[in-house]
Amino acid sequence: MTNTITIAVSKGRIFKDALPLLAASGIVPIDDPVTSRKLVLDTNQDDVKLVIIRASDVPTYVEYGAADMGITGKDVLLEYEGEGLYEPLDLEIARCRLMLAGPPAAARGQTRLRIATKYVKCTRRYFAEQGKQVEIIKLYGSMELAPLVRLADLIVDVVDTGNTLKANGLEPLEHIADISSRLIVNKASMKMKHARVNAFVRSMAEAVAQRRAGAQSQ
Ligand code: AMP
Repeated sequence: MTNTITIAVSKGRIFKDALPLLAASGIVPIDDPVTSRKLVLDTNQDDVKLVIIRASDVPTYVEYGAADMGITGKDVLLEYEGEGLYEPLDLEIARCRLMLAGPPAAARGQTRLRIATKYVKCTRRYFAEQGKQVEIIKLYGSMELAPLVRLADLIVDVVDTGNTLKANGLEPLEHIADISSRLIVNKASMKMKHARVNAFVRSMAEAVAQRRAGAQSQ
């Protein structure tokens, strides 16, 4: 249905933080994503659907037009390097930092560090910019474990409070990038559904500005 707008969002922290922004833009899911097993959620607007997918799949759905728009972290977008996406809005939610982290005084002076991460491209770029040769070990989760069992010297991961690092005897070492969730739009949808998509981007931008103003006045 060409008149339907489909928005891809990942479950968890990003979805939770995106809900008030969507609500301020007049979109409220009818199904509860926490209890529902549905992957396509109806909303209070007949022509707006939410698809709930893995964070790292959001850019793929949007690039291929399976979703018109998506909400995903900048960490995912930095790794994705796709061509078919617009990124019109920083939603300023799910903020964290992409960090190099490790045990205190880890492997200083070692010639070729081993870095465990799921952010392989970002990590390669970061060290290449410094002219440093590193060995990158791709993991899919629980990066903090890798230095503890000597799988790697250091890790690259997103850090919010730093509590997970601390609980595992690790500390943040170098800041690589600031991360927050972004609204992304399929290029064809931006053309073919211009008025609808633009109105949504504008109302989300207003919701973000209002949220920011509310936070500043507290
Ligand atoms: P922390 O608050 O630093 O203990 O973060 C806990 C875990 O949640 C870390 O292992 C991160 O991988 C993950 N995390 C923190 N913030 C985000 C975020 N904004 N998006 C995705 N994952 C996150």
